[in-house]
Amino acid sequence: MPGADCRETRSACPYCGTGCGVLLRPDGAGGLAVRGDPDHPANRGRLCSKGLALGETLGLEGRLLAPQVNGQETDWDSALDLVAARFRQAVDRHGPDSVGFYLSGQMLTEDYYVANKLIKGFLGSANIDTNSRLCMASTVAGHKRAFGTDTVPGTYDDLDQADLIVLAGSNLAWCHPVLYQRILAAREKRGTRLVVIDPRRTASCDQADMHLKLRAGSDVALFNRLLTALYEGGALDAEYLQHVEGLGGALESAFASDASVTGLSDSEIAAFCRLWMGTEKVVTIFSQGVNQSTSGTDKVNAILNCHLATGRIGKPGCGPFSVTGQPNAMGGREVGGLANMLACHMDLENRSHRAAVQEFWGAPAMPDRPGLKAVDLFRAAGDGRLKVLWIIHTNPAVTMPEADAVRAAIKACDFTVVSDITAATDTARLADVLLPAAAWAEKEGTVTNSDRTISRQRAVLPPPGQARADWDILADAGRRMGWSAAFDYQSPAQIFREHAALSGLAGSFGLDFDISGLSRISDSDYESLGPLRWPVSRNRQGGRFFADGQFFHPDGKARMLPVRWRPPASGPDRRYPFRLNTGRIRDQWHTMTRTGRAARLSGHLAEPFADIHPEDAQRLGVQPADLLRLSSPSGQAILRARITSDVQPGDLFVPIHWTGETAPSARVDTLVAAAVDPVSGQPESKAAVVAAERW
Ligand code: SF4
Repeated sequence: MPGADCRETRSACPYCGTGCGVLLRPDGAGGLAVRGDPDHPANRGRLCSKGLALGETLGLEGRLLAPQVNGQETDWDSALDLVAARFRQAVDRHGPDSVGFYLSGQMLTEDYYVANKLIKGFLGSANIDTNSRLCMASTVAGHKRAFGTDTVPGTYDDLDQADLIVLAGSNLAWCHPVLYQRILAAREKRGTRLVVIDPRRTASCDQADMHLKLRAGSDVALFNRLLTALYEGGALDAEYLQHVEGLGGALESAFASDASVTGLSDSEIAAFCRLWMGTEKVVTIFSQGVNQSTSGTDKVNAILNCHLATGRIGKPGCGPFSVTGQPNAMGGREVGGLANMLACHMDLENRSHRAAVQEFWGAPAMPDRPGLKAVDLFRAAGDGRLKVLWIIHTNPAVTMPEADAVRAAIKACDFTVVSDITAATDTARLADVLLPAAAWAEKEGTVTNSDRTISRQRAVLPPPGQARADWDILADAGRRMGWSAAFDYQSPAQIFREHAALSGLAGSFGLDFDISGLSRISDSDYESLGPLRWPVSRNRQGGRFFADGQFFHPDGKARMLPVRWRPPASGPDRRYPFRLNTGRIRDQWHTMTRTGRAARLSGHLAEPFADIHPEDAQRLGVQPADLLRLSSPSGQAILRARITSDVQPGDLFVPIHWTGETAPSARVDTLVAAAVDPVSGQPESKAAVVAAERW
């Protein structure tokens, strides 16, 4: 193991989708020394502040250490017998659609695989969705529309080789810091130009050549204008376009688009188009500012249209590049852990795919239509259609839009199970059954990062109390429901082999996700596995997709989509005059159950806040450090005002991390309306409307 000393264990950071490799060394007192893995291709030894502080985020304070039923500690047999009985009972009495799972991109691929198999193949319900629905569902939908599958075409090497990098709706400097550092290193070496497209001035703008401060939700209009400029400038790639359908319709829509809705000047837009058109090697990185929108899927396709039309895809230094929020959002996509997916990028609504998976699993029941996506799943829990719900490693009572309504829905659900490492989250407090799960550094499995690299997470600490790995808990529940053989798993390696073998079916259907080359991996090879980029099949290993112009639609061609700008679902009005943007801060992760423990991370930005423009602050009589009360049709929050021209007049920015446990008045997702993209079902977390007043 070059780069690691013999006391170190190779693993992967549990936070963002960059997927940095780490080297772990237990200190003998329950703690860990952590450093970046110099041999991991994602980070080459670098870590950001969150990764560097991993060793400070362990410890047993607040850990859930034993199963609980109705608040009373119990043993695993009693808890899981009850869980199994309630799921079977609900399916028998009310049908399979009366049960659901809500999972997390924090889960390992093996955990996800067992969950997806249990609910889709055996309980017969497609009601399995994850917090990835809040993260990159629009990208999945956009990829599928354009490419025929959910394929990330490029690799991180493209960031080193590009001459222009466009960050669309991504504060990469804070949310994927190691990738941002990688871009800065390339910029130093080859002068890579950097453009940031964001309504807000962020840390990513510090080094940017151009910041396009567009109006919230207007990305489609900007990229449509770029497409028309590429056409008018003779920059389309006629040879590559032989592999693409839909140019005419996409151009027609683009020419019908009005770029003035972006709020950018003609000269700003022209400068951006000139730079893009004049640079051969362009990577467009996009993230939540694109995805978290009621037109998120169209935004993704507007970006893909420009890359397809110019053949800037699948080649070194070129391509559209989605960066995922969570460490294993990609692994969840690969196992099919979303309500509208099957497994291994196969389609739930495709009869042949369904039959093949059913036979492979020996499954008694398979849904033939998509299940409820996140927002609808909790609505169904609230109105009684969903009777039994299992929530794993996520805190929807804080993080879902209209969080107060979601909290009420979980409370109203007949029976809720929560698996977590933390005993008293806002969601755990609502559970009938609490199951203690093993945490990062206590469990074994794999994750896939944003550039399709599979890495191993490894256990170096014993799980405390009665905590168990998620795959083990789910498989045990499956056996107690009556499916002993199908869930007779002894190790994550056994599950990984099954997942890899199943992916061979996807390969046989001509799909992209094929890791069947790993289906016979031995336990010891699994132990030392990775990092390696999929596909890993007989025909192909790693690399980029689409340089050859081969796509995954039945005719082998890509699709350009006709997309038109639509405004966000709600516009500011007299009652709710502000546009609310939500996002992350540099040193915290999700609801801070881990990062909140490290003093040096909490020291960066210690309390929840709302950024407000100086003109708005003056109009409202708000002074620096005053409190602001924000209200929307769905909730309220009270936050410290930060007066800054980083936000535009009429806009507010608030961070997402604080909970009912850490700052009861700062649950900002109570403010966000549950308006969703009609294709992807992803909520519009970047463009709610609120009222603001000094408090
Ligand atoms: Fe972890 Fe992401 Fe930071 Fe890498 S960039 S150390 S994966 S949080």
